[in-house]
Parts: sequence; C-alpha cells; structure tokens
Amino acid sequence: ERLATPAVRALRAYDPGHDLVALRARFAATELVELGANENAYGPSPAARRAVLDVLNTLHRYPDPTGAALKDALAAHHGVERAAIVLGNGSHELLMLLAQAFAAPGLEVVASRYGFAVYALAAQAAGATLRLAEALPAGHAMPRGHDLDAIAAALTPATRIVYLANPNNPTGTWFPLDALRALLRRVADDVLVVVDEAYAEFVTAAEAGSALTLLADHANLVVTRTFSKAYALAGLRVGYALAHPQLAAVLDRLRESFNVNTPALAAAAAALGDAEHLAWVRERNAEQREALAGALAARGLRVAPSQTNFLLVDFGRDAADLEARLVARGVVVRPVGGYGLPTCLRISIGTRDENRRLLTILDEVLQ
Ligand code: PMP
Repeated sequence: ERLATPAVRALRAYDPGHDLVALRARFAATELVELGANENAYGPSPAARRAVLDVLNTLHRYPDPTGAALKDALAAHHGVERAAIVLGNGSHELLMLLAQAFAAPGLEVVASRYGFAVYALAAQAAGATLRLAEALPAGHAMPRGHDLDAIAAALTPATRIVYLANPNNPTGTWFPLDALRALLRRVADDVLVVVDEAYAEFVTAAEAGSALTLLADHANLVVTRTFSKAYALAGLRVGYALAHPQLAAVLDRLRESFNVNTPALAAAAAALGDAEHLAWVRERNAEQREALAGALAARGLRVAPSQTNFLLVDFGRDAADLEARLVARGVVVRPVGGYGLPTCLRISIGTRDENRRLLTILDEVLQ
C-alpha cells in the first residue's frame, strides 16, 4: 500500500453494488429480476452467439491484435476510416486510457456532477485534478442533466479532458447536439472533449443527436461507444472510440496488444451486422421505457426523463432500506447514494414480465 503512488493510494476499488453470485445461488432464475446493471434484457443477436461458437476451435491462438475485421465493419457502419477507430476491453478501458494518455498531476479533468463514475476514477488514477461542474437544477426540463455552460465555465488553462455522457448514467438525461456544438466552439483545441455514447442506440428523441456527426470538424472530439448495452454483449467486453486518426493512434499505442479477445471480436462484428435485432431491441426498450416510467409516475414517484435502458427514480426519502427490501425479495436495482443521490434508485428497464414483477414487489415494499 505505502509503495503505491499517491494517486493510486487515494483510489477506492469499484463497488459492483451486489454479490450477484450469492443472489443467483439463493434465488431460482425465474425469481431473480436483475435490473441493477443496465444490461440488455433481450440478449444478443443469434448471429453473435453463432459467431462465438464458430471461433471455439481457435482459442489456442492469440486474437487478431489489430481487430481489423471488426474495425472495418465499424468503419463501414459509421462512415469513417479504419484509422479513426480504437477498440477497447469495454468502453471503460478506453475512458481510462484517455486519462492515462492526456491527463497527469498538475492537469485538470472536467466532468459534470452526476456524470458517470468512471470519469472521476480515470482522472484520479492519472493523478489529475477533477473539477465537477454543477448539473442542471431541479426545476429544469432535464433535472440533474449536464449543464454544458457550467462545463465551459469550469475550464481552466490546465484542463485537458472534458468527459460528457450522452445520455448519462445514472441520470438517463441527455443534451442536444446544439449544446455540444456551442461547447466545442468555446473550448481550446488542446482540450479533449470525450462524449461517451454508451446508450446512444437506445435514443429515440430526434433532438438528442449523436456527436459522431461532428467528428470530421473537430480533431479534439472523441466519441466512445460500447457493445455492452444495445448489442447485449456486456459479458464479452467490447467498446470502441472514434476520433481523429492521430488521436486514435495515441490510444492504440497505450492499449494492451490483445485487449479484445477472439470471441468478443467475432461476436461484435456479427452483432453489428444484425440491424434487425438491434431495431427490435430498441423498439421493445422504448415501449417498455414508456410503460414503466408511466407506471412508476402513476405511483407518485418522480422519474427522470430517460433516453436509455434505465430509469432514475426519486422516492423522495432515503432509498437505502427500500433497496435492501427489494433485493431481499429478488429484485436487484442500483443504489446511487455514491453519486450523491441517496433518495433515488436506478432501475434498468427489463422485459415486460420483469417490469411487472418489479412493480408487484415494489408495491409490496412501498406499503
Ligand atoms: N459509459 C457509461 C455511461 C456506462 O454506463 C457504462 C457502463 N455502465 C460504460 C461507459 C462502460 O461500459 P463498457 O465498459 O461495458 O463498455
């Protein structure tokens, strides 16, 4: 411990929330409703499952260190050149690598209050100073969402990275593309603006456009995406960043040579090719998002606007005991006290049956 760098000594290990192994052993599969990790309730494309089976006889070989096939598929999918793409062991790895490459002691990283937890972790691990910009206030149409004016005001000459999530976890909130355009006009070109679009494929609101359309005009913009959410491959760990090729090359130098494994590369490429499955997931999710948000609101609970596959629900009182009682009955949701939201729980949107079970048990617990 004492030999670790000061930055690392100050870190706390990631808290996964629940001992899911113990919970899965305690509850039958049909009785446990796992809505704690924003996973995809429907599972991956059948083509992705087949792709994993197809590579089983090559497991004694190292993966393709360049991930060329997946990168080519992504390049075609997004209309960018292959050199603009970096693959990661989940997008989490890429968010960490960005700080490792561009932040350091004496430099600053800016994020929003209630922004995704990994940004603070990445800044701390690099020994950089984290500055949190205030979020949008309670009365705003997007309460607790990122305030891009406050972000711009938090920049100093020492700032090297701004991390934004659109939509954000745990709030589910999003910001319009115009706000990002305005921010990009205000930041110096030695500041990286990282837009984490982990939930982008779930977005249905036309106003919440993707930052991908701005990449060609901004060499300091980085967009991260993941196969963990809409593509339902969380267990395989594949994410990617899109950026100017020179920036992508920096990250590529830092990553571990075989950071994305063979089944992951194969499954991701296959999942990307199954547009029909993605559309189906997206539609089901949007339909259940509306239904669940409505059902929760009808119970007098405050539900934040969401363009993701989860809802931030405010119970108006400390939610810790509520959460404990839900878990005791086999409904796993995510406490967000660590985010400074002790009265809220983050609930992933499940299938219709899972959501029904959630509501039944919630009603018992709320009585
Ligand atoms: N960004 C956001 C906003 C997330 O919510 C998550 C996962 N919870 C990630 C990034 C990381 O996802 P992964 O490493 O699985 O790609």
